[in-house]
Amino acid sequence: MRKNSWLILLFISISFASHLSGQAGKTVALRCGNLFDGHGDAVRKNIVLVVADGKIKSISTAAPDGAETIDLSTHTCLPGLIDTHTHILLQGDITAADYDEQLLKQSPEYRTILATVNARRALEYGFTSIRDLETEGAGYADADIKKAINNGVIPGPRMQVATRALDVTGAYPLQGYAPNVPVPHGVQLVDGPDNARQAVREQISHGADWIKVYSDRTYRVRDDGVLDDIPTFTLDELRAIVDEAHREHHKVASHAMALNGVHNSVEAGVDTIEHGNYIADEDLKTMAARGIYYVPTIYVGEYVAQGRAAEGAPVWVKMIQIHEETFRRALKAGVKIAFGTDAGGFDWKVNPAKEFSSMVKFGMTPAQAIRSATATASELLGMQDSLGTIDAGKFADIVAVPGDPLADVSLMEKVDFVMKAGVVYRKP
Ligand SMILES: [Zn+2]
Repeated sequence: MRKNSWLILLFISISFASHLSGQAGKTVALRCGNLFDGHGDAVRKNIVLVVADGKIKSISTAAPDGAETIDLSTHTCLPGLIDTHTHILLQGDITAADYDEQLLKQSPEYRTILATVNARRALEYGFTSIRDLETEGAGYADADIKKAINNGVIPGPRMQVATRALDVTGAYPLQGYAPNVPVPHGVQLVDGPDNARQAVREQISHGADWIKVYSDRTYRVRDDGVLDDIPTFTLDELRAIVDEAHREHHKVASHAMALNGVHNSVEAGVDTIEHGNYIADEDLKTMAARGIYYVPTIYVGEYVAQGRAAEGAPVWVKMIQIHEETFRRALKAGVKIAFGTDAGGFDWKVNPAKEFSSMVKFGMTPAQAIRSATATASELLGMQDSLGTIDAGKFADIVAVPGDPLADVSLMEKVDFVMKAGVVYRKP
């Protein structure tokens, strides 16, 4: 029995080692039929990417002597994809009941186990980096998932994390329970500028790379077609949060879906607007001028709309059209648009790369949509010097799809080669 166990263990070790080909010291050459390097619209043909020590060593037309070669000659190679809005601690919640169930019936420990699977899924879909925008009641588990990935314990994308997020009393689930029943919340509740500052300090001290705020709630379409909301924080509170985060060299992501939430966030100086189903022209102008990113998360809106309408909130169906108009105005206004999906808001078994088709449907070219998930997203992360484009000296984060995604952007859902920092996680 003992001998068998050792044999099995040996076999597992060997499989794991061969799985991680391209480790330090070895030179690997990727023969790419096409290369989309993330800089412009053009695709280069028959390129060899030479990888060593986790980095892109050179972009060539021939493999160096002695290099292990991986044949991607029927594929288009691209920079590793970046999803700037995920929730690896969530399993998809269309209705309020779905959400409450996760927080009430699953321990943070169990949710963390599920999150390790989601992290692996994200990487296998081709997302070599993600910005995870809060744990929805699972505390600081995202910081631990990030640590486990960085330490090589589990496979997953490189991560920037937001930990618990902030909202005001009475604005965030779980809600609607009897006042005498203590229930968990999906965020850290804070009221008043001083408490908000303290919460920012706390979250940063426990590993938050970003501070996430919920700036609005309760949506309604006005007669003139504008999506209205109830702002959560006062402008003073939001300004205190942004000031404290920036003072500590951290950035702020603001969930802002409608008129007032977006306006207050822009006024307070946040770094990214999440969702932005409706953004006034004036605010788009300010966003373009100050370089505030727009992370539209289109697909999730379609995913939840019918379910939420059936639950008595038809506004979610109307929001899709409003979102499209806003997206087209943002494109015209020259706002920086970064790829983000809200994965976890929908089931991780659904490939978040569906967002590419949604962005193209709303007016981007396939090349623009792909750059939003590579070059632009790397700038949002502040990692444009090491990620986002295929250039010598950058991390060897490289994915490939069979065929030409500029002709059919839905091919982005067919990533079948994934390399992160020179390590191969998936091969065709
Ligand atoms: Zn989200």
